[in-house]
Amino acid sequence: MHEMTGIKSRYKCPKCNSYNSVNVDKIFDGRLLFCCSKCNICALVPKDADADGPDSAYLEFLDLYDNGLIANSVDLNTIMQQERILRPPSEIKALLEKGNKGTTNKLLKEVLSSQKDYVVEYSLIQDSDSKLGSSVNELPVDDKIISVLSRKGIKQVYEFQEESIKRILLGIDTVIVAPTASGKTEAFCIPILQRISERLHSHLPYLDTNPTTTTRSQVSAIFLYPTKALSRDQIPKIRELAESVDIRVGIFDGDTSLRERNMILSTIPEIIITNFDVLHYHLWHRTKFTYLLRTSQFLVVDEAHTYTGVFGANVHYIVKRLERLCKNKLQIIAASATLPNAGQFCRTLFGREIEVIRGEGRKGKINFVMLFPSLHSYRSLVLDLVKRTTGLGHKTIAFSNSHLGSELLSFYLSRQGIKIKVHRAGLLPSVRKAVEQSFKDGKLMAISATPTLELGIDIGDVDAIVSGIVPINRLTQRFGRAARRGQEGYAFLALGNDPISQYYSSHPDDYFADQELVYTDPSNPFVLEYQILAMTCDKPISKSELYTNTNNNKVIRNIIQKLISQGLIGLSSDEKFFVPNFKKAYELLNEYSIRGIGNSIDILFNKRVVGETASDKSLLLTLTSDFLGSLSIARHCL
Ligand SMILES: [Zn+2]
Repeated sequence: MHEMTGIKSRYKCPKCNSYNSVNVDKIFDGRLLFCCSKCNICALVPKDADADGPDSAYLEFLDLYDNGLIANSVDLNTIMQQERILRPPSEIKALLEKGNKGTTNKLLKEVLSSQKDYVVEYSLIQDSDSKLGSSVNELPVDDKIISVLSRKGIKQVYEFQEESIKRILLGIDTVIVAPTASGKTEAFCIPILQRISERLHSHLPYLDTNPTTTTRSQVSAIFLYPTKALSRDQIPKIRELAESVDIRVGIFDGDTSLRERNMILSTIPEIIITNFDVLHYHLWHRTKFTYLLRTSQFLVVDEAHTYTGVFGANVHYIVKRLERLCKNKLQIIAASATLPNAGQFCRTLFGREIEVIRGEGRKGKINFVMLFPSLHSYRSLVLDLVKRTTGLGHKTIAFSNSHLGSELLSFYLSRQGIKIKVHRAGLLPSVRKAVEQSFKDGKLMAISATPTLELGIDIGDVDAIVSGIVPINRLTQRFGRAARRGQEGYAFLALGNDPISQYYSSHPDDYFADQELVYTDPSNPFVLEYQILAMTCDKPISKSELYTNTNNNKVIRNIIQKLISQGLIGLSSDEKFFVPNFKKAYELLNEYSIRGIGNSIDILFNKRVVGETASDKSLLLTLTSDFLGSLSIARHCL
């Protein structure tokens, strides 16, 4: 992608003869725009393949002048409009009229009449008021759970929440697709808590000689989040509901201290929050943690759309391995904010039929604007947008697609006095938390974010979103962050200078139709080998297991033969089980990452961890400028 920067050269004007009065700007298609600031003559000079730089174009400009082919800047706008570089005011007015009854909104007026961008599209996105379901009092759940909702001022649940609660209570495997912060967590927590609470109180007291043990202490549900940060973000909400019915929730992952781990292992909460990396590791190490999970009845997989590709294939087998160890058939509940092909994807991911429930859950109105930066660069468009939104007091998140992009944006805006900080993967959790908190508190007006913030982390109220081009469903998820309190929100899609952006700038309807579908392929033979090996480590695979389980078992038998020939597994002495060669298996599994990208890497500065990355070069580049030469990198697991 080429950058369009203002060209600094200034030339003498052929008409008014003023020195240094002719400015040159390169526009999106490479042509140069010459304009005299004194007498206002101007012309667009075509790109000359043989010549580089504006000097030869200036000669062309002089030539145009001599031949009388020159315009006055009063006519310039007309030329721009004819060339579709700028959108005629009448068309912009029509867009506003059609989209929002000719609103006089100040921010929209400023942005749409900037005269630097081609206004591709404007519309007011206003979901038909999210369908409300029953009053909370009518839900078939414990009054104590309802009282938590009432305390929060929730009188009625959304239709999708009611539907989810009822189906999960019936034991149906379900995937809930609804925007961030629309109440998905409540939709799956309430029925699960109801079921656990019924079990806790169902045992007959006269049979229970010691009420503090037996039925009381066992894990009933496992909640899986893709990141440790998200687990910590979600736990207060889950705990608030759980505590009402005396159910305990614990996080067990790489950030859990040894003391907390021991606490969990001895007191055994009913709900465990963790991630697939931890689950995988503990399963094949046959730890006490794994042993506790055997009593689980519910498996919740939130942000399910993150488990694509190789990661998804691994997740598929980790769920299978967990199912092998559990005494009960697990009920699976998945959730996602963006899954156009939710049913198909979850069927592959979990290897079973799963019902889809979709919800809207939007309260606000979003002014959506698609802009093509025709007379300045993509970066200056984004800078302009954030300056305008924050200037009018709107709290803003600007999404970049790279770490470097987010750092640069924050750098330029901070220099111009805008209170903005970066939020991205690779920063320490404490740093990210501090950024989230100061945005919530209103100390920050803007966050420069990477797709990390697309996940459901709660950052409070947002008025405006600025985003580069991503598939429409991911954009919708980003936009889902704005205007949650019912106020009017803004979503600006800044197209770039790439061919795809240029295409969408003239075919905006195609943009809305191009949904990104997510895929995973559990038959990936590479993943299968590692996962079957791990499976034998979890618990020996019996021959009968292979012959009774119809799914995939021919493929699995072939893999087992291969692993036997490599000396990684063998038959038990009674010849009934396939067992691993533990030494060799552990060596291999220790080197294996279920995310398919190698282990994550800690970045150390003076022996202190300053960041975490998955071998990301752009992050290292950013850091080296801060910590010249003093970096070291350590691999770590979990
Ligand atoms: Zn002049």
